[in-house]
Amino acid sequence: MEKRLVYLDNNATTKVDEKVLEKMLPFFSEKYGNPSSMHDFGGKVSKDLAVAREQVADLLGAKNPYEVTFTGCGTESANIAIKGALEINKNKKHIITTKVEHPCVQNTYKWLEKRGYNVTYLDVNARGELMLEELKEAINVDTALVSIMWANNETGVIFPIEKAAKIVKEKNEKTLFFVDAVQAAGKIPMDVSSCPIDLLGISGHKFHAPKGIGALYVKKGILLPPLILGGHQEKGLRPGTENVAGIIGIGEAAKLAKDFLSDELIRVKTLRDEFEKGILKKVFNAKVYSANAPRVSNTTNISFEYIEGELMLLHFADAGICASSGSACTSGSLEPSHVLKAMGIPFTSLHGSIRFSLSRFTTKEDIEYALEVIPPIIEKINGYSPYQKELRELKELRNF
Ligand code: PLP
Repeated sequence: MEKRLVYLDNNATTKVDEKVLEKMLPFFSEKYGNPSSMHDFGGKVSKDLAVAREQVADLLGAKNPYEVTFTGCGTESANIAIKGALEINKNKKHIITTKVEHPCVQNTYKWLEKRGYNVTYLDVNARGELMLEELKEAINVDTALVSIMWANNETGVIFPIEKAAKIVKEKNEKTLFFVDAVQAAGKIPMDVSSCPIDLLGISGHKFHAPKGIGALYVKKGILLPPLILGGHQEKGLRPGTENVAGIIGIGEAAKLAKDFLSDELIRVKTLRDEFEKGILKKVFNAKVYSANAPRVSNTTNISFEYIEGELMLLHFADAGICASSGSACTSGSLEPSHVLKAMGIPFTSLHGSIRFSLSRFTTKEDIEYALEVIPPIIEKINGYSPYQKELRELKELRNF
C-alpha cells in the first residue's frame, strides 16, 4: 500500500478550512483597518466583527451576540472565566472541578489551591463518566465556582452539562458555572440560552479556524472583571487590538460547524466506529476505553495492552499516521494520562493508550489505510514487550 499522510489527531488541532481561510485573507491586505478607528476604513471592519460574533453566538445558542467575547485561545477563556468568577464571589473559598479536566482548568485550580482555596475534584467512573450525585453533594453555601468540561479531550466522553448546570443553581444560585467546551464546539449541539451555564469557553483551532483565536460566552448580567487591563475592546473584558482575521475565521468556522452538525457527524461517527471495529478484529491486545459512554463522534481512545504508547507513535509516524498518546510526553514527563488514571485503568493499559481523533476531512481511504498499517506495527511492537507470557495468555483468552 502506498504511504500516505493520515491525520488522526484532530483533538490536538485541525486543518483550517479553505472557506475559512478565504474569508480571512482580505483582512490581512485590503481590509487591514483597526475596528476602533474613527474613519470608515477601520470602522467598516467592526461590522465584519459583528457578523462573526453573531456566527459564534449562533453555534453556542447564545441569544445575544454581546454575550460572546473573543479571546486568544481556550486556555485564555478558561483563565478569564475562572479567575473572574472568583473576583465576583470574592468571599467564598470553595471551588469544584473534575479529575479529568484539561490542564488549562486543572493547573488554574492547583494554583488557586495553593492560594487558599478549598478544592473538590470530582471522580469519574471506569467509563470516564461524571457522577452527578457527587456534584450535588459537593456544592455548599461557600461554593464560588464549578468548572466542568463538556467533552473530554482524551476519551471524547460527553458530560451531562445541562443537568449539571441545573444542579449547581438548585443547590446554590450564587455559585457560578463555567464549562470548558473546547472539545464540544462543533461536535454536539449546544444551547447555552436554555440552561443556567454562566460562562463557557471554546477554541477556534479545534474546529477548523486558525490557532490564536478563542471565545468566551458570558451570560448577560454577569459582570466579569478582566484578567489584563487596557482599552475598551471586547467590552474591556479582553482589551487589546482585536485579532481581526482570527475573529473572522472563527465566525466562518462556527457557521460551517453548525451546518455540519447533523449529517457530517454521522459520517464521522461511522468512520470512527469502523476504525474501532477493524482494530479490535485485527489486534488481540487492543481495548477501546469509554466505548459505552456517550462520546463525541470523532474520538476513540484505544489501549494496546502491555506495550508503550510512545514507541507506537514513532512507528505510526513513520507510516504516515498522526495520533497522540495519553501520556503527558509533551510536557517532558512520561507520567500516564491523569484522565485514564482517574478512570482506574490498569497500569498495563495506561502506557499503551492512543487517542485517534477524526474530522470532517477524514476519508474512508484514510481509515482503510490506518487499518492496513496499524495491526502489523502492533504485532512487531508486541515482540519487544517484556510481558510475553501475559500477551500469550491474552491472545488465547481473546481467541486469536
Ligand atoms: N480544553 C480542552 C478540553 C482542550 O482539549 C484544549 C486543547 O487541547 C484546551 C482546553 C486548550 O485550548 P487552547 O489550545 O486553545 O488553549
